[in-house]
Amino acid sequence: MGTGASYERLDRAVVIHNLRMARPRDIPCPCRALEATDATYAECCGRWHGGLAVGEHAPTPETLMRSRYSAYALAQGRGPASPAALEYLMQTWHPSTAPGDLELSPLKWTGLEIVHQETRGDAGVVEFVAHYKVNGRAEKLHEVSRFVLEDGTWRYVDGVIAANKER
Ligand SMILES: [Zn+2]
Repeated sequence: MGTGASYERLDRAVVIHNLRMARPRDIPCPCRALEATDATYAECCGRWHGGLAVGEHAPTPETLMRSRYSAYALAQGRGPASPAALEYLMQTWHPSTAPGDLELSPLKWTGLEIVHQETRGDAGVVEFVAHYKVNGRAEKLHEVSRFVLEDGTWRYVDGVIAANKER
C-alpha cells in the first residue's frame, strides 16, 4: 500500500502533531475484518503500532503489511488517531521510497485479504487484496508489496498493482 493516488503532500507538522496512538485497545483489529476471528486491535496490529516508540517491530512482512493496512484504516476519518497512524506509516516505509509527507484520500477501508506471502532472507513480498469504499461504492486494491529487512526492522519498499482477475 502506498502507490497510486492514495496520498498527497501534507505539512509535516500536521503529521507529527501527535505521536500517540489514542485508540481503544479492545476494538476488533481492522486487518481482521474479513476473517472469522476475535483478534482485537491490541492483540494484533495495536501491538506493533504501540511498539514503534519502544523499538518493537512487526516480525514478518505479513505482520508489517497488516499493521500498515490497519494504520491506513485507523488514519482515515478517525480523528485523534490519524497523526499517530500516519507516523507509523512513515516510520515503516523504506527511506528510499517514502514520500516526504503523507496525506490520505477519503477512503473507508473495509477489510484485508492476504493472498500470498513469501520471505527469502532479508526480502519479502506480500500479495493482498485491500477492500475499501469510496463515495459509498465498494472497491478493491489488489497489490503485491515488497518489503526489506534492515537492522532487524521490516519496511515497506514499494508495490505493484496486480491484475485483478475478479473484475
Ligand atoms: Zn491487525
